[in-house]
Amino acid sequence: MSYRWSSKNAEDFPGDIGKCVYASRLIGADPDLVLHGGGNTSVKLIHQDLTGQEIPALYVKGSGWDLGSIQAEGFTPLRMTRLLELLQLDTLSDLEMMSELLSARLDPYAPAPSVESLLHAWIPHRFVLHSHADVIVTLTNLADGAQMVREVFGEEVVIIPYVMPGFDLAKEVAELCPDRDYGQRIGLVLLNHGLFTFAETAETAYRHHINIIQRAEDWLAQHAPFPNPETPNPPPLPPVSSTELAGFRKRLSEIAGKPMIVTRHNDPVSEAFVRREDLADLANRGPLTPDHVIRTKRVPLVGRDLDGYASDYRTYFQEHRHRARTDIQMLDPAPRVVADPEWGVLTAGENAKATGIAADIYQHTMPVLMRAEDKLGGYQALSPADIFDCEYWELEQAKLKRSGKPPPLTGMVAVVTGAASGIGRACAEVLQEQGAAVAGWDLDQEIGSIFSGPNWLGQMVDVTDRTGQQRALTGVAERFGGVDILVTAAGVFGQSQPIASRTRDDWDKVYRVNTESIADLLALAHPLLALSPVGGRVVLIGSKNVPAPGRGAGAYSVSKAALTQLGRVAALEWAEDGIRVNAVHPDGVFDTGLWTEEVLAERARAYGLSVEEYKTRNLLSCEITSRDVARAVLALCDDTFSATTGAQIPVDGGSDRVI
Ligand code: ZN
Repeated sequence: MSYRWSSKNAEDFPGDIGKCVYASRLIGADPDLVLHGGGNTSVKLIHQDLTGQEIPALYVKGSGWDLGSIQAEGFTPLRMTRLLELLQLDTLSDLEMMSELLSARLDPYAPAPSVESLLHAWIPHRFVLHSHADVIVTLTNLADGAQMVREVFGEEVVIIPYVMPGFDLAKEVAELCPDRDYGQRIGLVLLNHGLFTFAETAETAYRHHINIIQRAEDWLAQHAPFPNPETPNPPPLPPVSSTELAGFRKRLSEIAGKPMIVTRHNDPVSEAFVRREDLADLANRGPLTPDHVIRTKRVPLVGRDLDGYASDYRTYFQEHRHRARTDIQMLDPAPRVVADPEWGVLTAGENAKATGIAADIYQHTMPVLMRAEDKLGGYQALSPADIFDCEYWELEQAKLKRSGKPPPLTGMVAVVTGAASGIGRACAEVLQEQGAAVAGWDLDQEIGSIFSGPNWLGQMVDVTDRTGQQRALTGVAERFGGVDILVTAAGVFGQSQPIASRTRDDWDKVYRVNTESIADLLALAHPLLALSPVGGRVVLIGSKNVPAPGRGAGAYSVSKAALTQLGRVAALEWAEDGIRVNAVHPDGVFDTGLWTEEVLAERARAYGLSVEEYKTRNLLSCEITSRDVARAVLALCDDTFSATTGAQIPVDGGSDRVI
């Protein structure tokens, strides 16, 4: 654990709130300390109001902010006196507490404050920092966790037995130190939860934090070296077929009641974990800290019996539901983590971001489990009842009720060819905006970075290479779990030449890209589309040249007509698999890679028009963009056309040669 406070960098963060931002970011930048919105920090300041009153305030991390990227406005100012008054109460439900905290804000537009605000308020020091450091949860998820903490840190910290975060935890901390005098002590170690440190300056609070973690690391390195350097790396697990993965995702999605993104991980840590003889026993003991339960569920599925997992989950819910203080609604019973001895570790989520968060958490969980089990006398998590309380916490349930409908393609997986430019790029963009995870294919080397974020997988693929297409589809199944949507936008125009002087090579090339490669892709993707939990959707990008061909565009018109016919046959053959196959016929979309200035000038000349006239020569006299085409494609991919297959939709501004 390196100490990364730099006085020079700290100068960029003026004032106490600035120093709190800086310390928060240092902690938030380290995934061994906090993951995805975990942890919180605060500073106590005097808030000056409009009438000149000086009000003691707690500025505490607001929800929706990550420590790693927090800014000053991510801290919510709360009236200190009110917070201390609330701690006088004997009981307070968490919903009541949240509503009181919201009312105690000195800025009504500040975000909802952390549920740990009351605990921050109780600690008298100006700066308070809280993390869920891996080494702290390693030491505290043991049968004799409290003893271990005492051995490592002596009297420098206060040990807090596990209590659920919120009012009860703040109350417990308050009762353990009623005079708010922490003397020489620099922090609190919360069993099965994490670490708080405090001081009068941000730098000292941060130094205490790193100091404690470093001591835990040193102690563990000495008493429980891990991983064992002598253990040789085992050979990698064998590959898993894409259709098996897609079939697994289909069943998992059915159990979840919505399409899910599933990612397979076969890194050395996951492989070592799934190969353990005691896998089922160890994996089933529970999470490192209860707030992980929202992301990973209490336990992973060990093996592949999804129905067995769902049934166990329902039993767990029935057994513990009486503990809830309010009426609760069962969450879906599908696993979020799967540990299979042959497949490795898989993570699942309602979108690629959630799947990634579950993966990050489990990547940090596995080493802790193995180390505690092998070197520290045995991993012991909180009881299922304690975990249940967090999973069905009234604040989480309230969030669930408030949350609106997600975008229509959430949890779905799309493959878009020709995604680096023009219509393909616009389709990839629109599908992502509507929630889909998109694998974009292109010859362009930059394809990987055309979009960013968990919903994007850019793959360099030459669509005329069948093996390359197969390899890319395998990559999609490993990353997202299957394929629901296929949009074929890769295409070439070829040379403009009359039939009488045609060149065979050019015709062959156009046909290979525009027709043959798509026939290959349809054949390769069919098994995955047939296993889509929502019913496969294919959209072929045809051309206005199909119903209204152009002189000199023989190769292009013929290849797109053949493609359209291919799609119609696929619509016939695949209806029984629930796969819809439709085509759009764009025309006059000039913001695509196909339309170089040369081609544009040539086509305009062929019609005896200026380039400008050529661009808007349609009944509506409008210029058509790639995005217009993408929106039509989207309508064919969401449920707008759920009862339509084999259709051809023009996106051409209206053509009197077609209507
Ligand atoms: Zn916490």
